[in-house]
Amino acid sequence: MSKKISSALISVFYKDGLDKIVKLLHENGVQLYSTGGTQTFIENLGIPVTAVEDLTAYPSIFGGRVKTLHPKIFGGILHRRGLEEDVATAAHYEIPAIDLVIVDLYPFEETVASGASEEDIIEKIDIGGISLIRGAAKNYEDVLIVSSRDQYDEVYEILSAKNGSTDLEDRKRFAKLAFATSSHYDSAIHAYFAGFEGGGNFRAGKITPLRYGENPHQSARFYGDLDKMFTQLHGKELSYNNLMDVDACVRLIDEFEDLTYVIVKHNNACGVASASTPVQAYLNALSCDPVSAFGGVIITNGKVDKATAEELHQLFFEILIAPEFDEDALTILKQKKDRRLLVRKPVTLSKSQYRTLLNGVLEQDKDLSTEKAGQFKVVTNVAPTEEQNKALEFALKICKHLKSNNVVLAKDGQLLASGVGQTSRVDALKQAIDKAKEFGFDLNGAVMASEAFFPFPDCVEIAHKAGIQAVVQPGGSIKDQLSIDYCNQSGIAMVMTGIRHFLH
Ligand code: 5GP
Repeated sequence: MSKKISSALISVFYKDGLDKIVKLLHENGVQLYSTGGTQTFIENLGIPVTAVEDLTAYPSIFGGRVKTLHPKIFGGILHRRGLEEDVATAAHYEIPAIDLVIVDLYPFEETVASGASEEDIIEKIDIGGISLIRGAAKNYEDVLIVSSRDQYDEVYEILSAKNGSTDLEDRKRFAKLAFATSSHYDSAIHAYFAGFEGGGNFRAGKITPLRYGENPHQSARFYGDLDKMFTQLHGKELSYNNLMDVDACVRLIDEFEDLTYVIVKHNNACGVASASTPVQAYLNALSCDPVSAFGGVIITNGKVDKATAEELHQLFFEILIAPEFDEDALTILKQKKDRRLLVRKPVTLSKSQYRTLLNGVLEQDKDLSTEKAGQFKVVTNVAPTEEQNKALEFALKICKHLKSNNVVLAKDGQLLASGVGQTSRVDALKQAIDKAKEFGFDLNGAVMASEAFFPFPDCVEIAHKAGIQAVVQPGGSIKDQLSIDYCNQSGIAMVMTGIRHFLH
C-alpha cells in the first residue's frame, strides 16, 4: 500500500549526503525530528526541525548514551496505524506518528580498526540507533527505515519519483536491508568481544589485495591490518602462501621462552632448535632438514646478530621474522633484494580461529594448551629423566603445530626429524626415522612425541628399535595398555598428557 510520509526522525553519525534528502523531505512538507548533531546540521541548511528532546521533554543524558530511547519515539514508530486501539493509545499519550526513520550508526568497526582504546570502542556501541532501526524495520507496514548512509541515493530516487510516498514493497525491502545492517553490526561487536579484531565480518576492516592466492589463477586478499603486527624492513610484498607460513611460524615460536629458531615450509616446521646463542640455534634448526629449509620461512624470538646473519645469508629463504635486527645483520641480509625481513610487533593475537567450509564458517578457540612435565602422567615402570622430560616438553610443543598425523623426534633442544600429515601414525613415524637417518642423526637416547594416541603398540615398537628412550602422547586408546606393556618390556619411559593436539 502506498503511504505518504508526513514525519521523519533523522539521527545519523556521518552527515555527508544527507542534505539532498532533508531538502526533498522539507519540500514535501515532512515534519522533521532529530538528535543533537543531526539537528544542528539540518538547522544549518535553513530547514526547520524539532529536537527529539522537545518531543520527549527529556534531555540527551549520560553523554549521549540515552538520546532517543523513549516511549514517545518508539511508540511513534511502532504503533500500528491500522489498529484502532494502537491509534487511540498513541493519541492518549500524545505520541506522534513517525513514518520515516533515517539512521547511520556509530562507526563501531572503524573505531576498532583505528586501534582506539577499549573505552572509546565501548562508547561506539550504538544503542538507540540500533533500536530505532529494529523498531522501524519491524513496523515496515507503516514505516520506512533507512539504516545506513549507503542507502541515501536509492531512497532519494524513490521519494522523488513517488512524491514523498512509498509502497509496501519498498518498505519491506528496506526492512530487510535494515536487519542486515543490525545483524552485521552486532556480529562485529560479538567478534570484538570474542577477541577477533577486524570484526565478525572479515570484509569490514582493512583489505590488502594479494598478487594471487595459493596458485596464480586464484585471486586473493587479506582482511586485517598487517602493519599492526609487522614492520617490513626489506623485500617484496607478502604473498598468500607467505602469510600462511608466517602464521605457522608465529604460532610455533610463541611456544618457546628459550632463544629459538624455527624454519617452516608449507606450514610445517622442518627445523626447530633452542640454544644459548642465536647462531647455534639457527644452525641446529637448519641441520634438521637443510633440504626442506630451502625456500622456507624463518622466525626467531631473539635479536638477529651479525654472526647469524652471515649464516642465514648462505640460505635461500623467503622471509625472516624477528623482534629485532642488529644494523650490521641487516646490511648483510639486505644484499638479496627479494628477501622479506619483518620485525614482529608485540601484539596480542586473536584467540579465535576461523575457516570457511561448504557455505559456512567454522570457528574455534585456538589450541593454547601447552603441557609441562609437571602435568605428565608416568604410565611405565621407569619415569623419564629430567633431561628426557625437557626433551619431551620441547617435542610436544612442536608436534602441536604440525599437520596430523604426526610424530616428532627430538633431543637436547633440537628437532631431529618429524613425520607430518600422514594418514597413519606408523607412516609418520617411519618418515621421521628415515629423515633422521638421511640427515645423519643418531636417534639413540632421543625422545618421541605424538599429537594423538597410539591405536596399536606398533609405534612404540618401531620407535624403540630406532633408539627412542622416552615417549609422550595424550593416551586414551582402548589399546593403551599394549603400548605401555611394550615400553615396560623394553625399559623405555612413557608419559601421557590427556590432551590431544589434532591439527587438520
Ligand atoms: P547526533 O550526531 O545526531 O547527536 O547523533 C547521531 C547518532 O546517535 C546516530 O549514529 C544514532 O545512531 C545515535 N543514536 C540515536 N539515539 C541514540 C541513543 O539513544 N543512544 C545512543 N547510544 N545512540 C543513539
